[in-house]
Amino acid sequence: MNRYLIYAIPLFLFFVIFEMIADTITHKKIYKFEDTITNISLGIGQQVIEALIKTLFSFLFLWVYKYSLFTIPDTIWTFLGVVLVSDFIFYWFHRLSHTVNFLWAIHIVHHQSREFNLTVSLRQPWLHKIAVFSFYLVIPFFGISPAIMVLAFAFQTFYQFWLHTRFIGKLGILENVLVTPSHHRVHHGANDIYLDKNYGNTLIIWDKLFGTFRAEGEPVVFGITRPFMSTNPVWANIYFWKEIVRMTKTRKGFFNKLRTFFLRPAGISAGKLKAGEEENITPAVPIWLNGYIIVQYLVILAVAFFFLFKQDSLSFLLKITAVLFILWSIYSFSALMQKKKNSILWELIRIVILCLLVYVLLTAAK
Ligand SMILES: [Zn+2]
Ligand SMILES: [Zn+2]
Repeated sequence: MNRYLIYAIPLFLFFVIFEMIADTITHKKIYKFEDTITNISLGIGQQVIEALIKTLFSFLFLWVYKYSLFTIPDTIWTFLGVVLVSDFIFYWFHRLSHTVNFLWAIHIVHHQSREFNLTVSLRQPWLHKIAVFSFYLVIPFFGISPAIMVLAFAFQTFYQFWLHTRFIGKLGILENVLVTPSHHRVHHGANDIYLDKNYGNTLIIWDKLFGTFRAEGEPVVFGITRPFMSTNPVWANIYFWKEIVRMTKTRKGFFNKLRTFFLRPAGISAGKLKAGEEENITPAVPIWLNGYIIVQYLVILAVAFFFLFKQDSLSFLLKITAVLFILWSIYSFSALMQKKKNSILWELIRIVILCLLVYVLLTAAK
């Protein structure tokens, strides 16, 4: 499923570097080291996890397609139709992701950054594809071939990338029809007037039709109402689940507890930091450690690229091992930045295993 994305990554990196240079020239200071590293970590994690689940979803899409109601030929019109329909489905999926606790527990990851730059588009929840593809399973039932769907989803993913920038202002007449960076900045706003607005992915018409549109006015405060202070990519994906479970304990009766997963998130995510959460705030990191983490990042990026390109020639066991190792690595960088106990010892062990894994991957891949 992510073949197109693999080839797009160098282009992504080019634009990110371009924006970083623009940031330095204009002194906007929209890039923070820890935040950028966490965004990229979450993106790497999402890509490698997606590689694991794509087999399951390819199977499911093909299975539904087998029982489709119609046979629709692969044409440019079919492609445009699927882009339109999937955009409509995405609007509702995204709206529910902000208004139902268990979907917000997945989606919250994308909103945790208090910065807003192109790397935020890489900050994707690790369970995102499982959630969104479950909504898209209806499409092949109407006779849309998997090839067209892959193209439409790739288009949808590419489109999200350019929305995450402060360097593009309002775009005149396009603002009426398309989702633009200005619309999407509003979506990432924690200001009261911007909450739960502008859910669209490609077309803004859905928000205008269903009453969730808000134009950008006052300066946007980016992030979520209760700031997420950690750089830990694993914690970013699980902490809201823990919040829901904590809330179920305060409710009586099995069905009441179960209902917590379907309630609106407002009661949980609002408010100040709780005691104990402050310890997640990243302490100042010495420059040598920044340098070390950047070098290790480049190594893990290379391993992740190699894995994504060669995944079809790897055994399932080796795939799982590589994915777990990559996730451990990005967790380890966060532990080093947060000066966690024994993080240096674990990092040494990780380096030894890295050497072994690189050897095994190079030998196994064809
Ligand atoms: Zn959102
Ligand atoms: Zn976004």
